[in-house]
Amino acid sequence: MQKSDFIIEVNHVSKQFEDGKFALDDVSLQIKKGEFVTILGPSGCGKTTLLRCIAGFQVATEGDILLNGEDVTTMPPHMRDVNTVFQKYALFPHLNVFDNVAFGLKLKKMDKKVIEKKVKQALKTVGMTDYEYRDVDSLSGGQQQRVAIARAIINEPEVLLLDEPLAALDLKMRKDMQMELREMHKKLGITFIYVTHDQEEALTLSDRVVVMREGKIQQIGTPTDVYNEPQNCFVADFIGESNILDATMVKDGVVNFCEKDFECVDKGFGEDTEVDVVVRPEDIYIGKVRGERLEVKGEESPWQLHGEVQSCIFKGVHYEMTVLTDEGYELMIQDYHAFEPGTKVGLLVKPEDIQVMKKERLCNTFDGEVLEDNRVRFLDEEWDIPERVAERFEVGEEVEVEVDFNRVNLQDDEEDGVLCGEVYFILYKGDHYHLTVRTDDGDDIFVDTNDVWDDGDRVGIRVAPSYIRLYKKDRAGAL
Ligand code: ATP
Repeated sequence: MQKSDFIIEVNHVSKQFEDGKFALDDVSLQIKKGEFVTILGPSGCGKTTLLRCIAGFQVATEGDILLNGEDVTTMPPHMRDVNTVFQKYALFPHLNVFDNVAFGLKLKKMDKKVIEKKVKQALKTVGMTDYEYRDVDSLSGGQQQRVAIARAIINEPEVLLLDEPLAALDLKMRKDMQMELREMHKKLGITFIYVTHDQEEALTLSDRVVVMREGKIQQIGTPTDVYNEPQNCFVADFIGESNILDATMVKDGVVNFCEKDFECVDKGFGEDTEVDVVVRPEDIYIGKVRGERLEVKGEESPWQLHGEVQSCIFKGVHYEMTVLTDEGYELMIQDYHAFEPGTKVGLLVKPEDIQVMKKERLCNTFDGEVLEDNRVRFLDEEWDIPERVAERFEVGEEVEVEVDFNRVNLQDDEEDGVLCGEVYFILYKGDHYHLTVRTDDGDDIFVDTNDVWDDGDRVGIRVAPSYIRLYKKDRAGAL
């Protein structure tokens, strides 16, 4: 058999459960031997399902999984050279530490002396020497998790899968254990695949981070990559604090946001192209406005934005401030100095600190069908359209429907909407919110609004007839 460069290859894996829901949707991922890879994403995004498919506790509906070049997609867990550590330690309460760790080897009827040596070695690796004869019940959460890890590594697996192993520990213990896991990874030299929803943990621990959302991989990269160069708004928002703003790429190297032109390092987006930009709060220089100039690294630079501090919170190491710019954009800024609310400040962003991202979409688009009586059907509902629009199409004609984000009207009362849905994802864009509303049929509608909604709010969805644009399917007849 030809050995692969990768210890694990996940090729176009999808997992659909009986209820029809896709927990994984065409996931591909390659992991090198000895890597520490973290799968990161919000609750329900499919992290555990991916880990379970790699472990063999679940079988992918489509695609295949290779371990050392060998197809293991349908191989039972115990035949794969992987071991899993779960969030709940799953130790045997009636056995002491030694017997818990030795359990697997005893089943294999290994020589007693060898078992003893291996248990001692495993306990040493997890920092639990001298705990052999303690009752597992008498141990703290962190100690129990160490025993669980010792039990997994004693089998000397090529791959250790860790499913939120630190989730049950308090913050201090978590931090300590994170450092110890890194050390263990180095010492053991085996591949770690780690699942967490905690972005800080992912950035601290990993060689590479896999960011997931709704069963799909959003980005794979080093912690620095995913932090400094997020590929979309979801990644930018999920990892770290960020200012995410609508922007226009004026030309190569110049981007306009907050109604000002900024120099940037990005190229190749085209001229006058709508984009999103991300600026991290720690990358915005802030200073009291005395004159119009601020010295940055020895150079005199003019302020790019002016504004007033709205709030200032001490965050332990830095202060976190919100500044309302004169143009009406709210920006989050972190600085070691406090600027009290009411202070007039100047702001400056350096070109390399502006991350430009292609917009995922410019407006809502749906497939539709023109009906009688000046109506169009899309998203399985009938919507009124102006007569002058309807009369340009045949009854029964299939059309493309477009609705601008800021033309979707959300109602408190579901009854007032043509459609009902739930607010599902909220992105603050400095001067408005960009919401994803998921309809009861599972379709997404994107909405720009100044109204404040919460995740999970039930809403009625309306669009005024004149804001529904129809296009011929071949796009020739734009109206
Ligand atoms: P969490 O961080 O909350 O554990 P996760 O990212 O690990 O979430 P998964 O446990 O992989 O997410 O679940 C992904 C999706 O698949 C969820 O919507 C979940 O409800 C669904 N799911 C998981 N297991 C099953 C199952 N056995 N049957 C049906 N649906 C399932």
